[in-house]
Amino acid sequence: MDFITGYTLEELKEKVSSLGLEPYRAKQILSWIYKKFTTDFSLMTDLPKKVREELSAVFSSHPLKLESEVEAPDATKFLFRTLDGHLVETVLIRERDHLTLCVSSQIGCAVGCSFCATAIDGLIRNLTTSEIVDQFLQVQQRTKEKIRNVVFMGMGEPLANYENVRKAAMIMVSPWGLDLSKRRVTISSSGIISQLRRMAEDPFMRELNLAVSINSPRQDLREKLMPLTKTNTLSELMDLLVRFPLSRYRRITLEYILIKGVNDSVKEARQLADLIGPHKKKFKVNLIPYNPDPNLPYERPSMDRILRFQRELWDRGISTFVRFSKGADVFGACGQLRSRRVEGIRTLHDAPLPSL
Ligand code: SF4
Repeated sequence: MDFITGYTLEELKEKVSSLGLEPYRAKQILSWIYKKFTTDFSLMTDLPKKVREELSAVFSSHPLKLESEVEAPDATKFLFRTLDGHLVETVLIRERDHLTLCVSSQIGCAVGCSFCATAIDGLIRNLTTSEIVDQFLQVQQRTKEKIRNVVFMGMGEPLANYENVRKAAMIMVSPWGLDLSKRRVTISSSGIISQLRRMAEDPFMRELNLAVSINSPRQDLREKLMPLTKTNTLSELMDLLVRFPLSRYRRITLEYILIKGVNDSVKEARQLADLIGPHKKKFKVNLIPYNPDPNLPYERPSMDRILRFQRELWDRGISTFVRFSKGADVFGACGQLRSRRVEGIRTLHDAPLPSL
């Protein structure tokens, strides 16, 4: 199947030319999809009827089928099924003044973080470009307010699916696409050195926001929490991040999941401050209190300990924020996305499929 949401403007120009149509038709088509959010060719009334029929015969609309929608006060989790039967989760987060969409980039994940529910199933496969873009499109079709922020923080390690994530991000930020600001699209990585290096050398990708999971200031503990870091060491990672090219005023976010009795002591806060050392202006730290999972042995620290950890970093001049993952009520929060488990959740809304 040939999904229309897998094409950039240039690719679509070539494709429509090969079908004997004028290249400018590509822009018209993408405008319907990404400005009016319709993938139904019969509604694209500025195209001749014959062209619309031809396009319907060539392209398919949605690689994902919406299975369910689970509502929480501050988030909605969307559960999609791929054509080959896998489940993909996407979470819409309602912030005070905007909406953020947390998209998945893989089915499962090979990184194997010990605190993460997604890791339990291992990596099943990468999502295609159109499967990533379709998460946005289908959620936007059901949401009145425009979604302006995207975080690649759902299932999977986005930089391990580099090409598809890159093309999806390009569709998201291009004027002919979803036209989001590059500053509002965040790639959240576990810290795969080779892929971060690739991102640093890529003039398009390095303009996006970057968040990297640190989770411990010590190599030994980080290895236990994130086995991948045996070969992607903390010192190599920090070395690379310190040199990562950033435009003025931009910073890299260091994500730190705070787990009770594991990495939440004052000693660790001080070690983290030492790790950042003189590069305070290049980083900010997001402390994410752990979201307990019934299948994993970890717990969330008390509020006192969370604030104590934060204070240690602030006292050393490091911008540090506590971010409670929204959507924990629907198991849609960080490290909680896993296709297998969601089958058991009672959905509040059994949403009908969009008529496309
Ligand atoms: S936390 Fe992210 S990188 Fe680690 S296993 Fe889970 S999905 Fe993969």
